[in-house]
Amino acid sequence: MIKEIKVKTALSPSQLPGLDYALNPYRGCAHACVYCYAPAVIHWNEGKWGDLVEAKINLPRILSKELRVKKKGVVGIGTVTDPYQPVEKKYEITRRCLELLLLHDFPVCIQTKSSLVLRDIDLLKEFKNVEVGITLTVLDDAVREKMEPGATSVSERLRALAELRENGIKTWVFLGPVMPHITEVEALVDAIAEVKPEYVLVDRLRLKEGMWERVRDFIEELKPELLCEYERIFPNGVEYYGDVFMKIKSRCEKNGLKCEINRLS
Ligand code: SF4
Repeated sequence: MIKEIKVKTALSPSQLPGLDYALNPYRGCAHACVYCYAPAVIHWNEGKWGDLVEAKINLPRILSKELRVKKKGVVGIGTVTDPYQPVEKKYEITRRCLELLLLHDFPVCIQTKSSLVLRDIDLLKEFKNVEVGITLTVLDDAVREKMEPGATSVSERLRALAELRENGIKTWVFLGPVMPHITEVEALVDAIAEVKPEYVLVDRLRLKEGMWERVRDFIEELKPELLCEYERIFPNGVEYYGDVFMKIKSRCEKNGLKCEINRLS
């Protein structure tokens, strides 16, 4: 279901590395990833995550006013929602915000799991400073369909990365969250290397409040034999991820890929 809402502000300060502002054209996300921590961050109380998306229909107008007075800084588009989820096809809020950011010459960093970003290549090519990150968590699309049911397929995302790069747009991959014994880390790094992003940012699964139930139901359906192992690994996970991150780093090195591990707590 889609609900139209109006907002009072557009840009919010961001604590994420490399970003000055966050811009989220929607509230809620139809990609409905089982590991999404946005509901905890935005205090989502509107029912099952993924069922409702609120479209911020006046966002471009508010953004336009703010861009005239805000200090220039990097705008992260899609920090707690996906800016290219299906509703964007109809509302084009992300596209209109991009037009404004381009007009005011603000640097932009986009993160998405959708090949719909290709629609805006014409605009992205005009930016002096833009990068597009595409998230990949698994290679097996049958698993992806259960874990990120509303998002674009794995092959479409890899194709999008290749096409963006062919058009001269800086790309990166968010490899995360690495799902223990599910993410095929080495094969996934090999597949990513073929589309040559500038770098790969790797992250662990972060179980914020209210997330364990959704992850547990997913594991129970996909591979119930992993349930005990997940209960052993989380909530801490330090030891497990230490080894996996080393494996990913060395595979990236072998492929000539720059790799960063997200150390944020
Ligand atoms: S695409 Fe991002 S914001 Fe949307 S459900 Fe998945 S993790 Fe959450």
